[in-house]
Amino acid sequence: MIRKWAFRAIVLYLLFGIAMYAYLFFFANTAVPEALRGTAVDPATFLNGRELMLSEDYSRIRNLLFFLATPYEWLFYFLILIFGVSATFERWANHTSKFYVIRSAIYLFWLSLTSFIIMFPLSYLSFTISKSYQISTQTFSGWMKDKLIDFWVSYGTMFVVITVLYFLIKKFPKRWWLAAWGLMIPFSIFMMFIQPVVIDPLYNDFYPLKDKELEAKILEMADKANIPAEHVYEVDMSTKTNSLNAYVNGIGSNSRIVLWDTTLERLSEEEILFIMAHEMGHYVEKHIYIGMAGYILLSLVGLWLTAKLMERWLARRGKEWKVEKMSSLSSLPAFLLITSVLLFAASPLTNMVSRYQESRADTYAIEMTQDKEAGIESFQSLTKAGLSQVNPPYLVKIFRYGHPTMLERIKKIKD
Ligand SMILES: [Zn+2]
Repeated sequence: MIRKWAFRAIVLYLLFGIAMYAYLFFFANTAVPEALRGTAVDPATFLNGRELMLSEDYSRIRNLLFFLATPYEWLFYFLILIFGVSATFERWANHTSKFYVIRSAIYLFWLSLTSFIIMFPLSYLSFTISKSYQISTQTFSGWMKDKLIDFWVSYGTMFVVITVLYFLIKKFPKRWWLAAWGLMIPFSIFMMFIQPVVIDPLYNDFYPLKDKELEAKILEMADKANIPAEHVYEVDMSTKTNSLNAYVNGIGSNSRIVLWDTTLERLSEEEILFIMAHEMGHYVEKHIYIGMAGYILLSLVGLWLTAKLMERWLARRGKEWKVEKMSSLSSLPAFLLITSVLLFAASPLTNMVSRYQESRADTYAIEMTQDKEAGIESFQSLTKAGLSQVNPPYLVKIFRYGHPTMLERIKKIKD
């Protein structure tokens, strides 16, 4: 029975992979519509032949990897659950200590380690591809160091979240999802608050903008938009990537505007100011807070659904997997599988909201700078530096794009 389920899941995964490959490589049309050929949205006007070819190839491979990685993770959770691997990890943990917190730490360590090893080939593949297209500039050891930081940061966060979660499941077998949701709100706010000062610096060096003249211009702009910023931050990314980026993160007194040093090196002052105006648009329209409110609301629905689905599933199959009850730590892969599927299913909606906010920030930047040319040029430079697709396939857009496509963004400025 278990073997049959494993076989079905693997076959389903392979068929899905083949279907996505056929879609992304053969069926999806990514050409610029006839009416827009030769205009500023047409990559043929700002990329050379080699860049055009590379950007199509690179984007297709990256899109395929994206669609393969998420269900690969589901397959992993499913298999370690049904083959009783998760139950074995729990047994090991229970043999070691009688204290729940220590048991939880040990169980999670085995689960995280196995997951890290199983997911490693895909992330390594993604890194080597990025390197071969000269997007990533990282050395293997630098990349590996980031992976290890990732491992410990996510292990630490998971330890806190899961230990509390399973304590709640034990304590409130019927209403744990509501209790978990109640605690999740202050926890997420706390995490967003510490992100720019505690988490981000683990990976990269942040410092106030070196170019003081530029900083003065940006701060003057911030002042016009009533943003109480004292510094704009620069982050050293050129040792890791050739692509360009800028963002706003953190909340309250920790909120900040950050520019990658690659952006500073590669773009003209007008282009940088346009991008800064876009970031200020997010700040002025409070997108971080709106996003957080949406996320809190969605997670209420998500946790309730997860509770219902998990209860039914375990009641039916738990015995087969040697997962005694829902409050056993060994049921965790079922929890992770269900929440990951729900998150993926919700991503077209969350991406749509994000694309709307990005489009608003673009409008804000156009109005603030009155510099359409700089806007168009900065989007063209972003496309070139990241070898990205101007007009991605439909499924890629709805599942992967939190920003409007470059075709939409450039066209909007142009019109
Ligand atoms: Zn944005």
